[in-house]
Amino acid sequence: MDPEQAAPPPAGRYAPSPSGELHVGNLRTAVLAWLFARTTGRAFYIRMEDLDRTAVGADRQQLADLAALGLDWDPPVVYQSQRLSSYRVVVDTLRDAGRTFECYCTRREILEAPSAPHAPQGAYPGTCRDLTPAERAERRAAGRPPAIRIRTDVDRFTVTDILHGEYTGMVDDFVVQRNDGTPAYNLAVVVDDAAQGVDQVVRGDDLLSSAPRQAYLATLLGHRPPEYAHVPMVLNPKHVRLSKRDGAVTLADLLERGVTASGVLNHIAHSLGLAGRHESVELADLADRFRPNELPREPWIYSMSEWGE
Ligand code: GLU
Repeated sequence: MDPEQAAPPPAGRYAPSPSGELHVGNLRTAVLAWLFARTTGRAFYIRMEDLDRTAVGADRQQLADLAALGLDWDPPVVYQSQRLSSYRVVVDTLRDAGRTFECYCTRREILEAPSAPHAPQGAYPGTCRDLTPAERAERRAAGRPPAIRIRTDVDRFTVTDILHGEYTGMVDDFVVQRNDGTPAYNLAVVVDDAAQGVDQVVRGDDLLSSAPRQAYLATLLGHRPPEYAHVPMVLNPKHVRLSKRDGAVTLADLLERGVTASGVLNHIAHSLGLAGRHESVELADLADRFRPNELPREPWIYSMSEWGE
């Protein structure tokens, strides 16, 4: 079934990037996304965000790890790499509506350009927004392919987040298609969520500041922005974002050390205040206990010593 054509039921989703194995932080976010969706009667989808660097087989490994924790999801598993024509149609529609412009700036030019008066820090400085046809022709002739940016008419937008409340953040003329022709994440995420009826987005709070751009774009495309829940990240004992360098952080690493999948689920549940430290729990138990308002708002500091090492 083409997800674009059906009137989809309300849904939540988990959208990993299949660039390697999921670590406990990713697994915890996935558990939360499942809990938020399933306790509110929503469908739950998995979407592979494979427009960037991917590792062979990582998608299948990630799905196996999620299943090992007891997660289930509704088909189909969507792969962004198979949806390029959908993104292209949306970029073309925006362009035809005068909503985009070609941007020839290098990253360095953007960093070095003086920012526009009153523009929020880090915003695109507007260099290519109003090029004359002659200036554009000159840049085209120089041979550097353009990225496509959205032409915004706001510079802030407010989203609703279950954990953060009303959150207002910057919206600049962000990239919707990179200069190699690849759709930008901020475009793909909006197109995909709308196509699948996703009206609840649960993900790491490192993406909170991207939500206003995405919700603005959704509105521009005639979609109602989703409700968000940006959940706390998992950090290592030095309070740095958890990574593979932090020891045994993937399910495979932990299984190798004799921890079971249900032990990992218990640990995650305990970190969320949903289970005692050595209580045997299943996802269905957690669903009964799940109260979004009572979730911890602080990052989870994950240390191998918690496994008794
Ligand atoms: N693919 C992103 C990640 O793995 C998540 C994007 C999203 O949930 O919108 O961090």
